[in-house]
Amino acid sequence: MSVQSLEEKWHDLLSLMRKKCNPVEYRNWWSPVEIDPEKEVPTLLVPNVFVSEYLLHHYREELGQHFGITRKGKPAISFSVRERVCPKPKSSPPPRRSGSSVGPVPFGQEVMLNKGYTFDNFIEGPSNRFIKSACIGVASGSGCSYNPLLIHGGVGLGKTHLLHGIGHALRERPERIGFQCITTEGFINQLISHLREKSIDKMKRYFRNLDVLLVDDIQFLENRPNFEDEFCNTFETLINQNKQIVITSDKPPGQLKLSERMVARMECGLVAHIGMPDLETRVAILQHKAEQRGFTLSQKVAFYIADHLFNNVRQMEGVINRLGAQRSLMDREMTEGVIDDALGDLLRPGNRSRISIDRILTTVALAFDVSEQDLCGPKRARKILTARQIAMYLAKELLNESLSKTASAFGGKTHSTLLHAWKKISLALKNDDKLRRRVQKTRQNIEA
Ligand code: ADP
Ligand code: MG
Repeated sequence: MSVQSLEEKWHDLLSLMRKKCNPVEYRNWWSPVEIDPEKEVPTLLVPNVFVSEYLLHHYREELGQHFGITRKGKPAISFSVRERVCPKPKSSPPPRRSGSSVGPVPFGQEVMLNKGYTFDNFIEGPSNRFIKSACIGVASGSGCSYNPLLIHGGVGLGKTHLLHGIGHALRERPERIGFQCITTEGFINQLISHLREKSIDKMKRYFRNLDVLLVDDIQFLENRPNFEDEFCNTFETLINQNKQIVITSDKPPGQLKLSERMVARMECGLVAHIGMPDLETRVAILQHKAEQRGFTLSQKVAFYIADHLFNNVRQMEGVINRLGAQRSLMDREMTEGVIDDALGDLLRPGNRSRISIDRILTTVALAFDVSEQDLCGPKRARKILTARQIAMYLAKELLNESLSKTASAFGGKTHSTLLHAWKKISLALKNDDKLRRRVQKTRQNIEA
């Protein structure tokens, strides 16, 4: 197969995809990709691994039809991650700068950004590296950005931090960028007050003239169809003009109770999950936060704390604040006992009535690296089954509910399944020290 014919195939595929995809999809997933003219086997140059995974997952058939299929039934292509910044797609006009007509300040208010939530203060690790670079891409307008960009993940994992990080970086751009960073609640409140004052057109004009819209906690639109409609109109107007939108959510779009129109719109762009940082990153975050508070945390102490807390970063920050407040402790040797004293109830069992099945599922999913859907689903792969049984064990131990009610929370399982899981894990805990420590730590995080 000659290089020329590979390039032709690629251009054929691009023309087909241009017709098949909507413009947003095409811009996100096909425009940034090129074929490597140097390679004899079809090799697609992609801006990051995520794009290759997305293409393989969503366009397998089309790729296979153009480049053939391997014996394993996969498209016969390779991917290579390109280092350089990808060019802006020719089809998309440069974003309009609203500085001259509409400033970034709405109705006399400043855009409220948390001072500390900058990219520099956001510690990077495997769980958030990709999403951080996507946010930097968006903020720099490098053309490698994705539109819309949706960041989802549990509470206290850095979604708002990254959103504000984009805001800070936009402010530093030499040209004036009209942007707004708003919580969904803030959007709704503004909508209500402008409806009341009959100045809704002014609000619409303002939002629809922005260059970049940053929206925090979109889940607050759930079950509010009227507000959702208005938001969706704004969203579509901006996207259709090629303006950047970034949204955070506590769950993936498909799990949000929003209209199909809204979900489909959000799924067109880059949907990226932010997870709990791994142990090393947690250590680095603790040390960074301590430094910001003006004290140093030794590796050993940081490891001890990071090893015990893995629910969310905000909780870790709480620990640093406490240690900071008890600075005299720093003069004493940091034994585990001293730290346990300082951490107090963060590491000790708390009020049981606060514990919910959702909290158990979120914590077990994080601790055992499976998804919450899998904990409640039918899959029986070993890793998933064990995590599910541990979640069932902890639910039986920690919730004051009937067995049937607790079991039904696991995707409608029966009380005998729950009891079986509880017996199995109880027995395993007697014989397996490592498992006992892991379950104990998970339990502490649920109770903290
Ligand atoms: P979310 O919006 O996901 O609930 P936040 O963005 O409010 O979480 O983050 C909670 C706290 O944790 C913030 O103070 C934030 O600075 C901090 N945080 C989260 N992730 C990181 C990180 N990777 N590096 C530094 N701080 C972080
Ligand atoms: Mg938040």
